[in-house]
Amino acid sequence: MVAMDTVRLYNTGTRQMEAIAPGQPDGLLRIYCCGPTVYHYAHIGNFRTFLIQDVLRRLLLAMGYRVRFIRNITDVDDKTIRGAQGEHISLGAFTRRWTDIFHGDCDALNILRPDGEPKATEHIAEQIAMVEALIRKGHAYVTSDGSVYFRLSSYPAYGKLSGVDVGQLAPQANDNDGAVNLADEYGRDSVHDFALWKAHKEEDGDIFWESPWGKGRPGWHIECSAMSMKYLGETIDLHGGGIDLCFPHHENEIAQAECVTGKPFVRHWFHSEHLQVEGQKMSKSLGNLLTLLDLKGKGYTSEAVRYALLSGHYRQILNFTFSGLDAAQSALHKLRAKVVHLRGTVGWSATDRSTAAPDATDYPPSQTEIIPQKIAAYRHFAAAIEALKNDLNIPKCLGEIFSILNRTAAADRQFFEELRSIFFILGIEIFSDTGTSQGQSVPDDVAKLAAQRWEAKQNKNFAEADRLRQVLAGKGWDVVDGKGGYDLERNNR
Ligand SMILES: [Zn+2]
Repeated sequence: MVAMDTVRLYNTGTRQMEAIAPGQPDGLLRIYCCGPTVYHYAHIGNFRTFLIQDVLRRLLLAMGYRVRFIRNITDVDDKTIRGAQGEHISLGAFTRRWTDIFHGDCDALNILRPDGEPKATEHIAEQIAMVEALIRKGHAYVTSDGSVYFRLSSYPAYGKLSGVDVGQLAPQANDNDGAVNLADEYGRDSVHDFALWKAHKEEDGDIFWESPWGKGRPGWHIECSAMSMKYLGETIDLHGGGIDLCFPHHENEIAQAECVTGKPFVRHWFHSEHLQVEGQKMSKSLGNLLTLLDLKGKGYTSEAVRYALLSGHYRQILNFTFSGLDAAQSALHKLRAKVVHLRGTVGWSATDRSTAAPDATDYPPSQTEIIPQKIAAYRHFAAAIEALKNDLNIPKCLGEIFSILNRTAAADRQFFEELRSIFFILGIEIFSDTGTSQGQSVPDDVAKLAAQRWEAKQNKNFAEADRLRQVLAGKGWDVVDGKGGYDLERNNR
């Protein structure tokens, strides 16, 4: 058997570089990432983490790993409850709206949808069962108000991931907004103990679930332990999240899971660093919690945002700046111009569709042609792939791509195959003429309409295709169809 080419990543748990490999004989790589709390727009710091995870997942897929990727939706906590109450709508209606908006942002940023996206409110029974198991095993206790707490002193290994010293800890925040629940009056044994189940309070209104301890709702940490176990089993291969989740959230996930199963919860911890904006920490008070919507409002494309957020190494703080975003936009233009030029060297050019060169329709190779076994044998872009395989070094990969493109005078089929797979991994549609057209950025809504029109045309729904062509024309864009694709041109009308 040929040993599979592997990805190596830094493991926060062992503080070492380690090869990523499935832990179970079925060969499936089990990945869990903490998802968003759906109460507002996710900010670009959140998206940095999701984008890094997306590139890792794409790399693993392109290399032939079989991956099951689960990312949860936190749809009940203080913030979602307050949000729903503030608008006098149900929690479900409130979180559905913000989940849809989150999905829209992910799609715009070309983040692949997870294989499963479990919601906390749809897994209350699993969470209750886990809390019951923890009580049974002596790791948790019920307080007089009907809350349930995890007893930290029952788990001496607590802190092994982040290295925190329990003796030095401040009282644990009980929710993911940092608010400390003052439950001590109800008999919490230690201020370090954290909530597994929160008894219903008057201000929660009609938002509660029945449990063996009375009305209430789950604490935040328990959902990840319960849902990862349901969808991925007792031990998962890789768990991702922002570095801010390392403590207490991930420590608590470990404590909950390992005390129930007696088995290791996670084999590899994958944490990405913080994002700063213009050299400052992102915070509500500084008003710099930038969202994708903010940046699009300033005229930047989602693709440029993706590129900018991926331009630093995941283990280093990324300083997000508007000059960096401008640089990302111009880097993308340069890349496309270079690729268009190289396509010309094999006789396939976006501007010259009438003269079909030999194999013209073979360029670019489609996504389904990314054959993992071939990646190991890459001739042109081996250094770029190598950078990704070695601790997901995206900035180094991009540097290699530029230097390869700059020294290449003429390309062949193999070159384009490799280029296609590298940009699939980076999540950038480098061959798509809709990302930029003649150096102009195409707004996302226009690109989406154009894609819908193309699909309608492929399905021989010509009436719909024509209708969409009119809509696009009204927005200032003409569609130019060619062999195997289309282009968009400003019509200046
Ligand atoms: Zn989590």
